[in-house]
Amino acid sequence: MLSSLHTYRTANGSAVFAPFPMPENPVLSEILAKLPTAPDGFYRSVEFVQPIPDAVLREAQTLFDTNRAPVEDCYLVDTRERDVRVYADGLRGLIYGAYALVQDAEDAEDGQSVRRGLLWDLPRCPFRGLKVYMPAPDDLESFTRTVDLLLSLRYNTIILEVGGAMEYKSHPEINAAWIDYCREMARYPDRANEIQNKTYPWDKNSIHFENGGGRWLTQDTVRGLVEYCRDRGMEVIPECPTLSHADYLLMPHPELAERSDDAWPDVYCPSNPDTYRLVFDVLEEVVDVFRPKIMHIGHDEYYSIGICPRCRGKDAAELYAGDLTKIHDWLAERGIRTMFWAEKVLDAIGLNGEHFGGSEARVRHPDGTVEIVRPATWRAIDLIPRDVIAHHWYWSIAEYFDDEFNKRGITLWYGNFAPVNFLDWNRRLAQGAGGGSPSHWSSLEDATLQRNGVFLSLFFGVRMFWDETWDDARFPEYLDAVFEEMFTSCNRKTLAGPHFDIEHTATIERRYQYLSSVPMQVERDTVGRYEVEYEDGEVLSIPLVYGLNITGKSRVWERHYQGELYDNPGLAERDTWSFDSKLAEVSYTTLPIRHGGDTWYRIAVPNPHPEKRVAAVRVVKTCADEGDILLGSFAVM
Ligand SMILES: [Zn+2]
Repeated sequence: MLSSLHTYRTANGSAVFAPFPMPENPVLSEILAKLPTAPDGFYRSVEFVQPIPDAVLREAQTLFDTNRAPVEDCYLVDTRERDVRVYADGLRGLIYGAYALVQDAEDAEDGQSVRRGLLWDLPRCPFRGLKVYMPAPDDLESFTRTVDLLLSLRYNTIILEVGGAMEYKSHPEINAAWIDYCREMARYPDRANEIQNKTYPWDKNSIHFENGGGRWLTQDTVRGLVEYCRDRGMEVIPECPTLSHADYLLMPHPELAERSDDAWPDVYCPSNPDTYRLVFDVLEEVVDVFRPKIMHIGHDEYYSIGICPRCRGKDAAELYAGDLTKIHDWLAERGIRTMFWAEKVLDAIGLNGEHFGGSEARVRHPDGTVEIVRPATWRAIDLIPRDVIAHHWYWSIAEYFDDEFNKRGITLWYGNFAPVNFLDWNRRLAQGAGGGSPSHWSSLEDATLQRNGVFLSLFFGVRMFWDETWDDARFPEYLDAVFEEMFTSCNRKTLAGPHFDIEHTATIERRYQYLSSVPMQVERDTVGRYEVEYEDGEVLSIPLVYGLNITGKSRVWERHYQGELYDNPGLAERDTWSFDSKLAEVSYTTLPIRHGGDTWYRIAVPNPHPEKRVAAVRVVKTCADEGDILLGSFAVM
C-alpha cells in the first residue's frame, strides 16, 4: 500500500480528523477535502509550512538516527499532536504530504484513521515523469486527471508532445495540414503502419497522429493546461520533435524535406537555412506558451540522412550534432535546457551483435561490395554540448549503454521507462541515472493508458523512485501489492457504493496488441457481455472487453532475464526482465488473482438499482474465437 511506502516513519496508534478549517491554497484544500472526519475526531488542523525549518530537520535526523540532508521534493508530515503539520521546501512537497494524509486514511482498516507519528520521505532520484501526447480538445479532463494521479503517486514532471497539435499563429498552414494528415492516417486502422512500414524501401518514423486526438489545441487552451500543472508544482517539458519526426512541419513545407521522393516526409534538411526559419518560428511560440525550464527536441529515429544534394557527402554525426547544437544554443540564449531522445548518439551494438540506434548499418552484397544503409551518427556524442539531458530509451537493449552518458557527465534520464522490465535499478541509479519516465504513445485516455501498461509502470515507478529497500528479488511480493493498489485506486468510488463484485476469466487467447499508431477497437475487442436481470425484468448489460476487463487465464506471473529466454537474434530488448504484457494491460480496472495455475480477474461494476433483487445473470459470448468466458462468482455488494 502507498501508505506503507515511506523512507522514515514512527507511528504510535492512530486517530481521526475532526472537521477542520481548509488551507487557503485551493489545490491543497481540494486534496484534504478527501479526508474523512468525525465530530469527535482528534486532529483539528493542518498547517503547511515551507521551507522546512532547521529545528524540524534536526529533530527528524535525531529521531530517525540519520545525518541525511534534505533533497528536492522531500517532505515531512507530523501527526503526533492534534495540530498536524506538513513541511516541505516547495509546493510540490506540500502536495505530496497532503496526499500522504489522505492515503493513510484510505488504507486504514476503518477507512478514516491516520497514524500518529512523524514521517520523512526522500525521493531516490530527481526526475520522475510521464511522457504523453496532447489531449483531444474536447477531452481536457483526461489530462487533468492524469496530472492528479501523477501527483498522488509523487511524480514531478509531465512531458507533453506538442508537434502539430498546438495552434501556431505565425504558421497556420501547419495546423491545417496536421488535420488532413491525421485524418488520412486514421482512415482505417492499419493506415499509419502501412505508410511507415510498407510503402517505402527506407526506414521511416512512427506517426503520432493520435496527438491532440488528431486535432490541435489553441494556445490559450494549452496555456490553461500548463497553468494547471504549475499551480500544482508539476514541471512541464514541451516536446517539439525536430530533425526527425518532423512530419508536422513538412506536410505544408515539403520543400524543406531531406527526401523529395517521400509523399510523407519525416526528416527535414539540416543544411537548408530555410529549415531553421520555420523551426525557430515554431519554437518561439512554444516557448511563449510553456515558459519552460527544459525543452525536449526529439531527434530520435533519424533515418533519412545525407540524401539531398546539400547534405550528400557530409558526415552523418556532424549533420546530427550540428542541428542539435544550433537548437541547443538558441534555447540556451533563452535560459532553457535541451533534452533529447538519445539513441542516435550511441554506437548501439546489441548483446548479439545487432546494430541499432546511432551505429552504422551496412549490407554486404553478393558481389562483395558494401552498402551503408544507415550511416553512423554515434560520434555526435562528443560533438554536442555536455549540458544536454539524454532521454535514454535504449536501457533495455544493453545495460552498458548507460556508461556512455555517465562517463561524460551527461545527465541521464530513462525514457520509455518500463519498471516491470527494468534490470538492475539500484546499481544503475548509483552509477548516475537521474530517474525515468514511462511513455504513452497513443491517445490520452484511461483505457489506452491501461492497455499500454502505463498505469502499471506508474504504480511500480513510485516504488523504484521512493523505496530505498527496493530489491529486484522481491518482485513477486511487489507485484501483488501493486495490483491491489491499482485496483483499489481505480475502483475506489465503485467499491464504496452499491456494486457487483465479479470474478471471471476466459479460455479465449488473443495476441497482445500494443496501442500506438493503431487505435483501440472496442468492437473488435468485445468478446461478450453479462446480462444482469432484475426481478422486474429490467436487464443491465455489462460489456466484456478483452484486454480491458477480462483476458485469457494462462498468464505468466514470473519474470525471466530476456537475454537467456529467447534464441531470437532480432530481439532488441535483451537486457531486461520479460513480463507478460497481457497481465500488464488488464491490471488497474481488474485485479488479477491466481487460483492454482490459472489467472482470474476481479472487477467491480456499479449497481444502478440496489433496491431491486437480481433474478438472473447470463453469460453471453459474442465473439467467434475458440474458448469460453468463465464466470466464477457474482456477488451483489
Ligand atoms: Zn539536406
